[in-house]
Amino acid sequence: MSDIPTLGFIGLGVMGGGMCANAVRRHPKPLHAFDMNAQALRTQTDVGAVAAASVEDVARAAQVIFLSLPGGKQVRAVAAEIAAHAAKGTVVVDLSTTSVADARDVASLLADHGMVFADAPVARTRQAAVEGTLSIMVGADEAVFARIEPLLRYMGSDVTLCGGIGCGQVVKLINNTLLFEQVAALAEMFVVAERAGVTREKLVEAVSLGSGDSFALRNHGLKAMAPRVFPEKAFPMAYTLKDLSYTIELAEQMGVEPRLPRLAAEYYQAAIDQGLGERYFPAIVEVVDRK
Ligand code: NAD
Repeated sequence: MSDIPTLGFIGLGVMGGGMCANAVRRHPKPLHAFDMNAQALRTQTDVGAVAAASVEDVARAAQVIFLSLPGGKQVRAVAAEIAAHAAKGTVVVDLSTTSVADARDVASLLADHGMVFADAPVARTRQAAVEGTLSIMVGADEAVFARIEPLLRYMGSDVTLCGGIGCGQVVKLINNTLLFEQVAALAEMFVVAERAGVTREKLVEAVSLGSGDSFALRNHGLKAMAPRVFPEKAFPMAYTLKDLSYTIELAEQMGVEPRLPRLAAEYYQAAIDQGLGERYFPAIVEVVDRK
């Protein structure tokens, strides 16, 4: 690989769209982009990306390929296509949230073809993806990390090497699980407070001054649950459930009984069952309130 690689980007949705656009703007060489969704691809070619017709096209053109796909199933399928068509030495950096086993299996498949893998799931919002201020948690060999860190800094303001392959996903899944559990706990307490005569706004104001304070309260509680604003195309319930299922699988593999993730997952599943699946996930408060 020459010092400055040609880039590829596959998966240009809510998060991938903003990340890809930042890479196009900041990288001195062409970026070959692909998404099954033609509109998502057009948005990127409008800002200067080269349109690829398929995963194979990206695999043949790029030396470092970023993925931002719905989950492990899609990452496994796309990685298998890359393995079949890319040159030896190609680096695949997965920005999606997958299971730890997905990341380690994909790394081993690519290694069999002389290719390199890093898991680099991202935290924060669509807005942070647009602004290039994501937090990126990386699982990679130190030498691979040194090569990809400058590229990840096009997209993130915080880039943390968490350990070897899979360790980025370990940290990301734990981060999300702690948040989803806290949002479920807040959803119950918001409804209790309101029914007992305390407004949602007053609850946030007063609890944030006490030891019940948290990022989830001041962010998801204040901005979404108090005003009951749950947009679509943000972070849907299906992704919440997906991440919790990956954590449950990981905890079981590590010999820890995941009781709290299972309990939280019941609420998010109920939200999907009640037609709230596409809404921003703090809409779980509606599930509690309907009982
Ligand atoms: P999204 O559904 O908006 O985007 C996924 C994109 O991948 C879509 O445009 C889809 O057309 C494309 N795609 C799917 N399969 C494909 C294939 N085989 N080939 C080519 N393109 C394909 O999802 P998103 O919200 O951008 O999330 C992407 C990843 O980032 C997920 O793993 C998610 O868990 C994670 N994540 C999301 C958020 C968020 O706030 N939305 C935050 C952090 C992490």
